[in-house]
Amino acid sequence: MGWIKFLGTAGSRFVVFKQLRASGGIWLNYGGKNILVDPGPGCLVRCVESKPKLDPMTLDYIFLSHRHLDHCADINTMIEAMTEGGFSPRGVLFAPLDALEGEDRVIFRYLRGYLNGVEVISGGSFELDGIVVDAIPLVHHGVQTFGFRFSSSGEQTLSFIMDTRFFSSIPERFKADIMVLSVTLHRKREDIDHLSLDDAFNIISLAKPKLAILTHFGRGMLLKKPWLIAEELSKSTGLNVKAASDGMKVDF
Ligand SMILES: [Zn+2]
Ligand SMILES: [Zn+2]
Repeated sequence: MGWIKFLGTAGSRFVVFKQLRASGGIWLNYGGKNILVDPGPGCLVRCVESKPKLDPMTLDYIFLSHRHLDHCADINTMIEAMTEGGFSPRGVLFAPLDALEGEDRVIFRYLRGYLNGVEVISGGSFELDGIVVDAIPLVHHGVQTFGFRFSSSGEQTLSFIMDTRFFSSIPERFKADIMVLSVTLHRKREDIDHLSLDDAFNIISLAKPKLAILTHFGRGMLLKKPWLIAEELSKSTGLNVKAASDGMKVDF
């Protein structure tokens, strides 16, 4: 038993930076743990304005898929909020190496000591308090990017396909009871490493989740109304497909 709350559903630069949709990432309650995934611009504000309010000091883990701003803009803010500015160290951060080291690192060094741990994601599986996490490498515009699959005994399996171009092992590697897909493009564009609606159709048809949730929408997706797109996909795949909206909570 657990839940997912969408603190934002914005995908493309245009949608994020005009705030046509919010961009705060995803709060996941899974296996009794609170996990924040990709705290983009506005994450802290979205947490405190949630009803009921989401308290960052209850977070156990922060996962960062990649260092693009729409995913990491509030990551330092959330580390401060989670640890009361370092007075109450807690939580473990998981992030790709290029978000932690190198010229364009995005996580301040002085904050790292506020945490109980900082772990580099490099692909493969690891276990956290009875939760098995698969970090699955994705292909996305030259930055290290990972998607995640969570499993735990007695829980439904859950996966997050973050920003990526389509590749053939996605359906099998991310197969889960509940799959969250970042579907930014309405029409496929070979020059942009994001999933399109056709890619989403292929992934969902092959992986057959109990529930697929679309999010991270670009402008083309918003113009075509994601909830109508989800209805169409439900009909064409015969499966349960939902479109995320800002603030939407899904219990499982
Ligand atoms: Zn993105
Ligand atoms: Zn990105």
